[in-house]
Formats: sequence, structure tokens, C-alpha cells
Amino acid sequence: MSSTPSITANWGIPNRMLVGPGRLQELPALCEELGYRAPLLVTDKGLKDLPMITDTLAMLKKAGLGVDLFSDVAGNPVERSVSAGVEAYRGGQHDSVIAFGGGSALDVGKAIAFMSGQTRPIWDFEDIGDYWKRADANGIAPVIAVPTTAGTGSEVGRASVISNEEEHRKVIVFHPRMLPVAVILDPEVTVALPPHITAATGLDAFIHCFEAYCAPGFHPIAEGIALQGMRLIAKALPVAYKNGADLEARTHMLAAASMGAISFQKGLGGVHAIAHAVGAMYNTHHGLTNAILLPYVMKHNQAAIEQRMTPVAQAVGLQETSFDAVLSWVLEYRKQLGIPHTLREIDVADDRADEVGKLAAGDPSAGGNPVPVNAAELAQVFRNAVNGMI
Ligand SMILES: [Zn+2]
Repeated sequence: MSSTPSITANWGIPNRMLVGPGRLQELPALCEELGYRAPLLVTDKGLKDLPMITDTLAMLKKAGLGVDLFSDVAGNPVERSVSAGVEAYRGGQHDSVIAFGGGSALDVGKAIAFMSGQTRPIWDFEDIGDYWKRADANGIAPVIAVPTTAGTGSEVGRASVISNEEEHRKVIVFHPRMLPVAVILDPEVTVALPPHITAATGLDAFIHCFEAYCAPGFHPIAEGIALQGMRLIAKALPVAYKNGADLEARTHMLAAASMGAISFQKGLGGVHAIAHAVGAMYNTHHGLTNAILLPYVMKHNQAAIEQRMTPVAQAVGLQETSFDAVLSWVLEYRKQLGIPHTLREIDVADDRADEVGKLAAGDPSAGGNPVPVNAAELAQVFRNAVNGMI
């Protein structure tokens, strides 16, 4: 695979980003430059034996760094992984974290770095009011993030979503200093991602952009980034889905995933509110759940968003710019990427709809929905998505 100059770059928004094929090779030099002598490399079980991890460990060791591997990370990030990771971090006297993997590994890696010097339990730092001020800022270790999926955009975020298994809910843990110091967006670490994960994570990124664009409030910076993110994904995702080795499409997807997460500081909405509830109750894949839910939530929000669909239609390449045109495009695009039409197809029934609605209404994402939504309305949208009623 040759390096393509046109997709290689250095960015500083919102953190330092090394972009392009082969940039992972710069990791030892980056650690050295930042003064990290003993990073803890955090990844998930599925990646730990792959060459991208074993080669990276060898490369860091060869550079004289006291690196250790922590890979006790599951598909959805849980508190157990964070506390085990903090123990490994302290035991190995580490000075930094390399969070390397999909959204779960990034969130757990960031949470380990954050919790490495704290004395209070992680739930005390839930993203409510100024709870983050409870943290000892000097006890937060620095993070270098290397995403291997183009989805959550956690590499540019100041929070981790950690499941509270006792309460069956997803908790956002926030601190401004959880933002990774540096990010490597190397498309070569995403080429092995299978098509169905490429589609689900890529649509998650699209929905970050879409919900952020539709969220109420004055934030033209976020809106501009969101529209450009949708433009990139509309073109690049079907290419990456069909040909995982297309480095340009993979780079565009990594960029767009970061853009989605930058833009959603404006807010998310009903798709994420329901998906967080469904994910916590049924352990479904976050991106896939969102991808199924999108058209049902769009339909519910139609009156509030239909006047604003022209830029979205243009971004995804449509001639016709109506709400219906965008909705039809979403349905067709989703189908083309192998996404099921209903939640029932991923084994989610509607018998606990009221519970889903209640949980979703309490999710912070619900506040970004373009129209206020209550538990009963969210339960109805969920029922529609289970049964395929647009
Ligand atoms: Zn998401």
C-alpha cells in the first residue's frame, strides 16, 4: 500500500491529529516528543493478537519505552474494565495511555487515564452540572488515541460512555482534560474492519452529524462541520463498505467520524436517546441500533426539521431537496449498506417499550432533539422501529 500525499495531513482541531496512511509508525517518536516513557496500551480482546497491536508493542519496546498491554475490554465499555485497567496502570507505574481500538477501547482507555489518579468512584463524575470539578485534575494521565473504527469519534471527545451494569444505564463521564493529547488517524488500521461493522460504525458517524445539525440552538461552527461530515460519509462509506482496502475512503471516514464527534457538542437527539436505552437493556451494537432507528426518529421530528433539509439533501448529493427526498435516501442508503429495517430483526421486542421510553427520556441526548420529547413519545418511536412502521 503506497502513501497518498493528498490524504496525509497534520491538524489541530480540536487536538493534534496525525492523518494519513502509515502515520502509526510515528507513534514511538510522538511518545518521545511528548515525554511519555511508560505508556499503557489499552485495546480490546478482539484486537490484542492482531499484527497491528503486536507490531505496535514491538515497535514501542524497540524504542526503549516501558510499554505494557491491557486488553480486558469488552464490546461495550463497562466499569469493571476501567477499574482493572487502573490497577494495571498503577501496578506498572505508567505515565500515559495509548487508547487503541474501536469506541469501547477508546472510551475505556480514556477512563483509565482519567481514573488513574482519582480517589472517588467513577459514577461521581457523571456529566451532570459541574460534577467534573470533583476530579483532581493533576491525577489525569495523558492519552494518545488511535481509532480502528470510523464511528464514535471518541478520539476528539472529552467524555467516555461507561455502562453502569447495576443500574442498566449508560453513564457519560466527563472532564475537559479527558480530551486525548494527540490522535493518529491511520486508515491502514481500519482496512481489516469487516463490511457490516464498517457500515454500522460509519452510519453512527453520519447520525452524529445529522442529529447535531438538527439539534436546536445557535452553533454555526458545529453545523458547518456536520454538513461536511455528511458529505464525506455519503460518498466514502459505500466505497469503504465494498472495498475495505480503499485508503482514501477509509481516511475520509476517519475524518468524518472525528467531525461527527466535534459537531455533536451542539447536541444529539432522539436516535441516540433511544439507542442508549436499547443498548443498555439489550446489549445491542450502538451504531447498528442508531442506523435502524434513524428514519423512525426523522419521521417523528418531521415538522421541526423539514424546513432545514435543503443543505442536508445537497450534502448527500440529491437533486430534490425535500424532507421526503432525504428520508427516501436514508432508507435506500441504509438498505445498500445491509442494515436491517426493524429492531425486531436484531432480536429486540417491544414488550418493554415503556421502560425504553422512560430510560430514553432521561438520557442527556434527548435534550438535543429538535422537538421536546417525553417518555411516551420515545416509547412509541421505539415501538415503530421494532415493528417497521415509518
Ligand atoms: Zn453514536
